[in-house]
Amino acid sequence: MATAPTVRLADGQALPAIGLGTSPMNDAEAEIAVREALQVGYRLVDTASKYANEIGVGRGVATANVPREQVVVATKVRGDDQGYGSTLSAFEQSRKRLGMDYVDLYLIHWPLPRLDKYVDSWRAMVRLQADGVVRSIGVSNFTAEQIDRLLDETGVAPAVNQIELHPFFPQPQMRAADAERGVLTQSWSPLGRGRGILPAKPVADAAARVDRSPGQVVLRWHVQLGAVPIPKSASPERQRENLDVFDFTLTDEEMAGISSLGRGRFGGDPMTHEEF
Ligand code: NDP
Repeated sequence: MATAPTVRLADGQALPAIGLGTSPMNDAEAEIAVREALQVGYRLVDTASKYANEIGVGRGVATANVPREQVVVATKVRGDDQGYGSTLSAFEQSRKRLGMDYVDLYLIHWPLPRLDKYVDSWRAMVRLQADGVVRSIGVSNFTAEQIDRLLDETGVAPAVNQIELHPFFPQPQMRAADAERGVLTQSWSPLGRGRGILPAKPVADAAARVDRSPGQVVLRWHVQLGAVPIPKSASPERQRENLDVFDFTLTDEEMAGISSLGRGRFGGDPMTHEEF
């Protein structure tokens, strides 16, 4: 069985170097996919209150026959629940839906600068970590300025920033900004949701050379960038394929060729996107 190595977060916690995404699965789909993924070797699962599948994710973890302490479960606070007290109660609801005593990684899903409550949410996350019900705290879709504001106002940096990252949107500046601040970058939509990345020539050429699938080449590109991808797959075959990216290496030229596919984001802009 393939397993992923781990990377060390600034707070000392270990994070598997690849994880399973669960959007847009419903509870029933997530339960099956998470159980199968853990059985083929995944040890990191990404969900969110917004995905409305935390019950299924929790059931998948509970029935996979893998000790709970070996699994890293990440969930996120949605826009509607931002603010100090509402983040504390939203966390409690997520924890109950997951059926878990603690959550490994809790993220602010989007900054929502117009709402301007993310610092209050962050103070609540700091408290949840101090209370021991969350192991690591982080953010998603944050800019460098927004991370700096958290640091300035609370003295605590996020362990993780989960951002849109794939060969069509390689984000060199944001990755560098995260790294400068000791923040681990996680990649959402790491395969670009299959929107034309897999057949692109630099990906196909590298896949032919290393005798791997285009999906594996793209996920290996993330690993070599130092980012942790969370590809979603409901298929056990593709889950297994996606996990099996730790025994080959792309050359510097292949890495640069894949990064040169950059053309822009397809998801929301963190400065303007509103998610509730
Ligand atoms: P991905 O880039 O992970 O692409 C998923 C799609 O690719 C699915 O259709 C899947 O189909 C297919 N696929 C998976 N593996 C392969 C493969 N090896 N070869 C070919 N096709 C493949 O996109 P997502 O948008 O799902 O992003 C991943 C996760 O990131 C989400 O599930 C979610 O957890 C998180 N996310 C976070 C966001 C945030 O704001 N923080 C925003 C968006 C996503 P199949 O299932 O049939 O295998």
